[in-house]
Amino acid sequence: MSQTLLEKVKTLEPLHPNKSTGVFGGKSSGILNWNDIAYPHWYKMYKRLIGNYWQADEVNMSADVKQFAKLTQAEQDAYLKIIGLLSTLDAPQTRTALLISLYATDPSVQSIMAVIAQQEAVHNESYSYVLSSVVSLDEQNESFQLGRKDPVLLKRNEHIMEVYNNFVEEPTIENILKTLVYSALLEGMFFYSGFAFFYNLARHNKMVGTSTMVSYINRDELEHGRFIAELFRATLAENPQYNTNEFVDWVYRHFKKSVELEIEWSSYVLADLEGIDLEEMAGYVKYRANKMLRMMGLNEIYPQHVENPMKWIRAYVDNFDGTKTDFFEQKSRQYTKTSDLNGFDDL
Ligand code: ZN
Ligand code: ZN
Repeated sequence: MSQTLLEKVKTLEPLHPNKSTGVFGGKSSGILNWNDIAYPHWYKMYKRLIGNYWQADEVNMSADVKQFAKLTQAEQDAYLKIIGLLSTLDAPQTRTALLISLYATDPSVQSIMAVIAQQEAVHNESYSYVLSSVVSLDEQNESFQLGRKDPVLLKRNEHIMEVYNNFVEEPTIENILKTLVYSALLEGMFFYSGFAFFYNLARHNKMVGTSTMVSYINRDELEHGRFIAELFRATLAENPQYNTNEFVDWVYRHFKKSVELEIEWSSYVLADLEGIDLEEMAGYVKYRANKMLRMMGLNEIYPQHVENPMKWIRAYVDNFDGTKTDFFEQKSRQYTKTSDLNGFDDL
């Protein structure tokens, strides 16, 4: 199969039509009319993404500041390690979203990826923000070193690093598809054992500020995952020559490997924590993997895990999908801009 390198898309190309002829390697003028795009329902996705707008320092951390010192040593360690992990996912994702948009020949994709990149930038900022609220600068820096030094974390991130960096060096349709596969894994699975750790603290009334922040990140990631899966399906449908058994096998193989590594990582970072059952967590990881595969138009690979085994987590996550109003719906109503209200006054 020819591996033509894609060129960065020109900014304006008046000879091309406004409505794009292809998501990658197509033609478009660069002018965007949301009412005339190749995939009309992507406008709704854009609106949902924009509707999730939030900023890190709007979340009040004053209770967490006092509580952090009262956490067990194991909880404090896990807290710092998991923030370290999350930062290794959101930083590359900020740039990968931008890179995808540079090669996308559909201006609606460029705009959606711009919003995703902005949100990833906020996620990154939020990790600095929560850590600066609870530990010294030395400890903050140590936590952000983990992605460069912790052997389990490095092993866990090895494949995504390789695939993302290959796309930088060789921007081909195949490498874009592979990057979208790892983006789907990142947005839809890699974050979730970390999220579960914070929700577990919240259900024991600990570090609720951090968990509120994490729930906003989680809500964004669910939307990102949904769009990335859409983009993957559209790219594959427009380029059927890549829809081969070999490629689909590659996807399944990498999903399985990622699930193994995620389970290994979560057993390492969540060991000895009260309220977290590692067996259940492994099931949850598989459940998330199934969910992403289904969104990408592929088959589930863990038939035993089509249901969420961590039922308690639903109160924190699943409500973003529907219109139910409990824990986080109430939270979001309470969520006012504390930076305007001087929420830090009671420190
Ligand atoms: Zn993110
Ligand atoms: Zn994301």
